[in-house]
Amino acid sequence: MSTTTAAHKLVIIGSGPAGWTAAIYAARAQLEPVVYVGVPKQDPGPVLPGGQLMLTTEVENYPGFPDGITGHEMMAHFQKQAERFGTRAVGADIVRCEFSRTPGRPHALITSDDETVLAHAVILATGAVANWIGLPNEMRLARSGGGVSACAVCDGALPAFRNQPLAVVGGGDTAMEEASYLTKFASTVYVIHRRDSLRASRIMQERFLSRPNAKVLWNKVVHDVLGERYLEGVLLEDTVTRERTRLDVKGLFIAIGHTPATKFLIGSGVELDVAGYVALRGRNSQTNLPGVFAAGDVADSQYRQAVTAAGMGCVAALDAERWLAANQVH
Ligand SMILES: Cc1cc2nc3c(=O)[nH]c(=O)nc-3n(C[C@H](O)[C@H](O)[C@H](O)COP(=O)(O)OP(=O)(O)OC[C@H]3O[C@@H](n4cnc5c(N)ncnc54)[C@H](O)[C@@H]3O)c2cc1C
Repeated sequence: MSTTTAAHKLVIIGSGPAGWTAAIYAARAQLEPVVYVGVPKQDPGPVLPGGQLMLTTEVENYPGFPDGITGHEMMAHFQKQAERFGTRAVGADIVRCEFSRTPGRPHALITSDDETVLAHAVILATGAVANWIGLPNEMRLARSGGGVSACAVCDGALPAFRNQPLAVVGGGDTAMEEASYLTKFASTVYVIHRRDSLRASRIMQERFLSRPNAKVLWNKVVHDVLGERYLEGVLLEDTVTRERTRLDVKGLFIAIGHTPATKFLIGSGVELDVAGYVALRGRNSQTNLPGVFAAGDVADSQYRQAVTAAGMGCVAALDAERWLAANQVH
């Protein structure tokens, strides 16, 4: 049976860098934020409370950690800092939203425990999920930091990949961007593509193909990922002849897109763009609905970094605080 509680000033949905940063700012501003941290799931890829950084070992590019920090540790610090100022964390998903169009009348959020939660302001910080091929060995080596990654900008510069053969799976603009970036470090960068032509724009293709260490393997898919503790290579299958060949690489970067976590917003009235990301109004965090804000990868298909998500979380908390004050919610 569904239960309803009194209205909160602010509910934050999502517990990645964007959600916790929004919570730190909101809690210090005495908005008594409640964070719905989400529950673990497998579809469309692994999702954990704490967000995408829970799937990585070393984070080397977040300012303030000169020696690097593991994704787990970093997200535990984020949560501890938010809780220190009075944030309350709830271990459930928000599965449906009934947003109010009238300031003063709170939004209703339905949880995976079938509770109805009322909130005057809401920050959507549910992130996005990297799409993976879906092979068991791929996920094993991605989780253990064994050489499989979904983010070249995050992991490409790690010492283990320097002057080594690396592979990128994909054929769109993101794959070309990731592959071009990796040519700075790798001995050879192989783009593995399942068709005989790339989907990427001409300019992005040329940027990659102009590098002396760039190679495209046409009509190939990754059939298996090889290596016990560290990646040793991939088993490729030709999509035309079905012939299987081994390619020795030390790093495998999956660049086949991301899925924004916005399914629960369908039908809620929040405007999404064509790719399903939350559409923001201008440079701040305001969505098309009053009192509904968004931050992090759920509203950013371009930069997708922990530090940009955290920055957007800060912006959303400040916007929510101003909106609540302007609408006399104290
Ligand atoms: C393998 C990997 C390695 C990476 N390495 C780095 C790195 O080294 N440096 C770097 O800067 N960036 C890195 N990134 C990118 C970085 O992780 C993301 O940019 C960042 O985590 C985005 O933060 P976010 O808060 O917007 O969303 P996310 O981190 O995606 O968090 C979203 C959260 O929302 C929760 N959630 C989703 N739906 C619901 C719901 N309906 N109800 C309640 N909760 C929900 C999820 O459980 C999750 O906890 C990496 C990404 C990946 C995949």
